[in-house]
Amino acid sequence: MSEKRLPVVEYLKIPDDGEPYLEGHKCGNCSAIFLGARSVCSKCGARDQMSTTRLSNKGKLYSYSIVHRSFPGIEVPYISAIVDLEDGVAIKGNLVDTEPDPTKIKFDMPVDVVFADALGRKDRDGNSYLSFFFKPSSKS
Ligand SMILES: [Zn+2]
Repeated sequence: MSEKRLPVVEYLKIPDDGEPYLEGHKCGNCSAIFLGARSVCSKCGARDQMSTTRLSNKGKLYSYSIVHRSFPGIEVPYISAIVDLEDGVAIKGNLVDTEPDPTKIKFDMPVDVVFADALGRKDRDGNSYLSFFFKPSSKS
């Protein structure tokens, strides 16, 4: 029996078979992509043209901050980052596998979206949460 994994955010989708992914909403008129459901495109104003789309797992670092103080139980320091995905969507999350040292973190560096347990959090039924993180792209 396998435990169910719950997404930490609504736009993280966990298919029954296959890899988790981030979901965006794409405008059928102008192709702009947004996080979160909406009925009107905030770029071109088209109404009811939105459909869901699977977001890229690749992007580049747009901005970050190193967090030294957080809630009890959260390991610090960690790197809170904003990443521009290849689809043009900006998304916030934690950058992992990187030293929290500004001299080691480069703006525009390529990152991959990875999925992992959310810090051991569980709900009352013992289900664990799945979250997403950014990590520096392995050069290949
Ligand atoms: Zn649009």
